[in-house]
Amino acid sequence: MTASFLLDQIGMPKDPISENKILRHRLDEFVAEARKNERKMRRFQSLELKLIGLSSVQDLIEAILTPDYATFRWDEVTLLLLDPEYEIQRALEEEGVDLRSLPRLMFASSSDDINAHYQISLFPTLGPYRSRQHANLFPARRRAPGSVALLPLVRQGKLIGSLNVGSYSAERFVRGVRTDFFEHLSATVSICLENAVNIERLKRQGLTDTLTAINNRRFFDQRLKEEVGSAQRNKQLLSCMLLDVDFFKRVNDTYGHQVGDLVLRDVAALIRAQMRGSDVLSRYGGEEFSALLSQASEDEALEVAERIRESIEQHVFSAEGQADFSVTISIGVTTFNPELDETVAMRMQGEYMVGQADKALYEAKANGRNRVESSGEIEMQEGW
Ligand code: GH3
Ligand code: MG
Ligand code: MG
Repeated sequence: MTASFLLDQIGMPKDPISENKILRHRLDEFVAEARKNERKMRRFQSLELKLIGLSSVQDLIEAILTPDYATFRWDEVTLLLLDPEYEIQRALEEEGVDLRSLPRLMFASSSDDINAHYQISLFPTLGPYRSRQHANLFPARRRAPGSVALLPLVRQGKLIGSLNVGSYSAERFVRGVRTDFFEHLSATVSICLENAVNIERLKRQGLTDTLTAINNRRFFDQRLKEEVGSAQRNKQLLSCMLLDVDFFKRVNDTYGHQVGDLVLRDVAALIRAQMRGSDVLSRYGGEEFSALLSQASEDEALEVAERIRESIEQHVFSAEGQADFSVTISIGVTTFNPELDETVAMRMQGEYMVGQADKALYEAKANGRNRVESSGEIEMQEGW
């Protein structure tokens, strides 16, 4: 279809100069629209990236409730969260948050209270503000919004909350417009919230190390049994690593134990960064870490260990008022091959595996530190 045919159809002038002008004008409009969408996408992206970087419930909720209102042209943001067992409220209170100082944060004790707002679909709902429907979602308002966007927060097909945005302008949020950006934002907020609540839950159960935010020894001991059992049942390899920071006492002696704490926190993050999400990493005690790598052969485990060793060696640590410094780590690796006598007690097998990794770690220390040693593939022995 030609441009002049189109212009004919809508009764536009046919001379080429006018046609050209009109087409140019249209093109400018398209480009302006595309630029506007790109700016919008960037605004949403930067908010979402910020949220993804936060893991404490308190920080996350604060960031959700205080987006850059001016750039988004939002006038009110409120958050309604499902919290039937008061878990989130308790966690916030324990962090010293006075919930009365956060009137934009609301809790529902039953899912019916949230479901009522999303009877038709679990998609963002945009439209005029109606006091009967929306007054309880915007309780702290200075003035009633003219239009609202309600974003459902959903995990595993169930509503876990509602993020509510209000604008004083009645034209701001209207029915029928595309809601892609809102859909993406509500998915991100949902996942971040679920994740933060899960971390909180783990902490409460005493399975997380508060300094490094990774699992603690208790968690490791529990998972060790489970992982050995599963490797045995599924006839899959399981590798175990023990990692110990070299000469860590010197770090404390030179820079003080507070700097030592920060180093441990960074080391934990550096180790985590080289592992798969499904691998189990724990602080085994002091400056020692342990890891379980399911379905990993000796070669694969050695490769991961080498990457960890290298990334720590190359990391530059800095302490205020001191010259930058580096630390190294020694790693012992062992791999459990489940082709073995299945009568041996699982608990003992886990202990045996950690014992072998510890021997390999000892070798790594004895052979000069900042190195990886392996005990090779082991079969569990009768008597263990
Ligand atoms: P090696 O290479 O043989 O492992 O030497 P090392 O100095 O690392 O080993 P050693 O076991 O002698 O010292 C470990 C040090 O780690 C001693 C202890 O004070 C310190 N440490 C243990 N836990 C923490 C902690 O939570 N924070 C700080 N800052 N230091 C810790
Ligand atoms: Mg040690
Ligand atoms: Mg050490």
